[in-house]
Amino acid sequence: MFFSDYDQLIALDKKHIWHPFTQMLDWCSSDPLIITEGKGCYIKDINGRWYLDGVSSLWVNIHGHRVKEINDAIKDQLDKIAHSTLLGLCGETSILLSERICQFLNSTLCPDNPSLNKVFFSDNGSTAVEVGLKMAFQYWRNIGQTNKNQFISLNNAYHGDTLGAVSVGGIDLFHSTFGALLFKTHKSPSPYCYRCELGLNKDTCNMTCLDKMEEIIAAHSDTIAGIIIEPLVQAAGGMIVAPSGFLSGVRSLCTKYNTLLIVDEVATGFGRTGKMFACEHEGVVPDIICLSKGITGGYLPLAVTVARDFIYEAFLGSTNEFKTFFHGHSYTGNPLACAAALACLDIFKRDNTIEELAPKIEILDLWLEKISIFPHVGNSRHAGLMAGIELVINKETKEPYPYEQKMGYQVTDNLRSRGVILRPLGNVIVIMPPLSISQDELTTMLELIETSIIEVTGA
Ligand SMILES: *Cc1c(COP(=O)(O)O)cnc(C)c1O
Repeated sequence: MFFSDYDQLIALDKKHIWHPFTQMLDWCSSDPLIITEGKGCYIKDINGRWYLDGVSSLWVNIHGHRVKEINDAIKDQLDKIAHSTLLGLCGETSILLSERICQFLNSTLCPDNPSLNKVFFSDNGSTAVEVGLKMAFQYWRNIGQTNKNQFISLNNAYHGDTLGAVSVGGIDLFHSTFGALLFKTHKSPSPYCYRCELGLNKDTCNMTCLDKMEEIIAAHSDTIAGIIIEPLVQAAGGMIVAPSGFLSGVRSLCTKYNTLLIVDEVATGFGRTGKMFACEHEGVVPDIICLSKGITGGYLPLAVTVARDFIYEAFLGSTNEFKTFFHGHSYTGNPLACAAALACLDIFKRDNTIEELAPKIEILDLWLEKISIFPHVGNSRHAGLMAGIELVINKETKEPYPYEQKMGYQVTDNLRSRGVILRPLGNVIVIMPPLSISQDELTTMLELIETSIIEVTGA
């Protein structure tokens, strides 16, 4: 450390750092925390105060901070080599990790027909999605069906911030500015029952949103290369939880109309929804699956796009057939990140992480039920330990708080003074703690959130 002084460092931050998803004018007149340390589910700021990390450092942390086994795995790897390339060479840790990931995927999603076997490495969720889209697109070309060059994506979808990922995104606030740069996709309705865009009621609609998707695909089936979705939860769209049967319905449509299912489990993967992968809830086997965030336990940037065997096989041919997948990144298969991921996956087994979630999910479920009667809680929803509380100005009419009021931030700012870090999505309070959070820690955090909601919304 060259500086230990908060004022000096924060001045430098404001002078040189352009923060993501941030109006810097607001930032520069605020007093942000400088985080210097973490332990378990807590992070510490430079002034020595500890906070509960209620959104897992933006949805990535799984087993807590400074986990001995993951630390040691990275240190051991560092004493061997920090990085070499997968272009023309192999790496020990990427080989071992690819096998481990396939074991996890096949044993949970398709034990009878283990077909998810081909792992393509990259380093963040957006690139995992780019890889998935390009793979699907080229798959059809390689088998001679060059008309299949379009995708169906969903309203309210979020798949990352690179241009391909933005093209299949569906959040106007983030994405509409870049419209002129994007490729066109067919947009299917979001399974957002609280604000159904078809104006229907969840109890009686029979998932008409799936019928709409079928209309699109039926009208364009010879041109649709794939459907990309966030299974079970549209996360950045506002923790929108799809009704049960929606995901398996999309899988059936892909099969019926001979198109590929690309699932983006960047947010939902690695236990967040209460199972290892969200697809497991509905017995869905994707053709391509994108994984990142939790894969290293929140330690280092790493992503994989895993394809079923038949997709990979379509890329095999002699050099002059040009079936090669021409894609790659400088840090592909980074050994330190792979070592962290291997240690992270070991802990899932050792600690029975998934089984241990059940009582925590129960606590969250009961609490969400309880606060759903609050006058400004329009809707509360969750899948596993991913939860969203949608605040509204008027519960009867579902009228949202105006954007400028920053109601979400009012609540999370209030919580910060109580020692909890959350980051909202508009009017939706997001709760997504590390899976390792104890029942006591979770209960304490929920009580504090409740207090802040009452104080800020005045109810
Ligand atoms: C976060 C996220 C991404 C993008 O991942 P980055 O690592 O931020 O590029 C993609 N898809 C989903 C579902 C996500 O939640």
